[in-house]
Amino acid sequence: MHELGLAMEVIDLVSQRSGGARIKRVVVEVGALAAVLPDALEFCFGLAAEGTPAEGATMEMVTVPGRARCAACGAEVVLMQPLGECACGGVALEWLSGFELTVREMEVA
Ligand SMILES: [Zn+2]
Repeated sequence: MHELGLAMEVIDLVSQRSGGARIKRVVVEVGALAAVLPDALEFCFGLAAEGTPAEGATMEMVTVPGRARCAACGAEVVLMQPLGECACGGVALEWLSGFELTVREMEVA
């Protein structure tokens, strides 16, 4: 389970950004290929937030599609899971994005 590490990263980031102000809500964007489970991330967020300005904050996770390039025809393929198929039938895909985790929004009290 890598969600705890990710949750701690998010907490670090928003704590720095808030400058110590209490955080009410955080919206996190996660690439679809990172295979993050929303429930697990939310649970870990709650744990990691204890004793930080984000304690008690709610977390929303938004999954953004990943992108890959087809090795056969060069077209870009949108992926919601690590394995996919290009419209040309090619399955050799080079991942371009979809593993990132970013804080899209945060609300401070
Ligand atoms: Zn293709």
